[in-house]
Amino acid sequence: MKQRSLLDILPSSNSTSPLKTLKKTCARCTQCGLHKNRTKVVFGSGTLEADIMLIGEAPGQTEDKTGKPFTGKAGKLLDKMLASINLERGQIYLTNIIKCRPPNNRTPTEKEIETCRPYLLAQIEFINPKFIVLAGGSAYRGLTGKRKPISQVRGKWFKWHNSKCISIFHPAYLLRNPSLEKGSPKWLTWQDLISLKRKLNKLTTKLHQ
Ligand code: SF4
Repeated sequence: MKQRSLLDILPSSNSTSPLKTLKKTCARCTQCGLHKNRTKVVFGSGTLEADIMLIGEAPGQTEDKTGKPFTGKAGKLLDKMLASINLERGQIYLTNIIKCRPPNNRTPTEKEIETCRPYLLAQIEFINPKFIVLAGGSAYRGLTGKRKPISQVRGKWFKWHNSKCISIFHPAYLLRNPSLEKGSPKWLTWQDLISLKRKLNKLTTKLHQ
C-alpha cells in the first residue's frame, strides 16, 4: 500500500498549490528542537517543473537569515558548478534534508533527520524530479537511511522511487578543499557533474525524438 504523505493530508481547499501550503505548515513547524533557535525555516526554492532536485544537509547562517537554501559562499560555488554544465539555479529545485539551522552548523541528528523527513518526501513526491543530486553525506543518509562516507558513495548512480540519484561532495566541503588536481574532491565533483549532464542530455534527446 502507498504510504500517506504530507501532501495527502493537507487541507483540500488548497489543493491547487499543495507545496505552497506545505511551505506555510513548515514555517510554523515545532516538531523538533531546531525550531527554537531558527530565524527562518528554509523550505526550498526553484522551479516546481524541475528535472533536477538538489538536496543539501541543513541551512547555515546565511540561509537561516535569508530563508533561502544555498546562499553565502557555498551557494556561490554551487552556482559556478551549475554554470559549468550550463545550468542555473532557476532551472532546478533546491532544498535541504533539514529545514531549520542546527546550532553552530553541527551535523543534524538521526532524530532530527527522521522528524523533518516527511517534508522532504512530500517535496520529492510533488516535484517528481528525474534526477536527485545529494550534496554531502548527510543528504545521502537523509534520503537513503544509509550511513556511508560520501567519498565512498559519490559518483555512483542509484534509483530511488522515480528518480535517478547521484551523490556529490557538498560545495561547503569543496570550499575547504580547493585543489583541482586529478583525484581531488573538486576534480571528482567535476566528473560527477559531467555524468549528470550526460544523463540530462540523453533525456532531452529522448524527449525530442
Ligand atoms: S527541522 Fe524540520 S522538523 Fe525540525 S522544526 Fe524545523 S521544519 Fe520542523
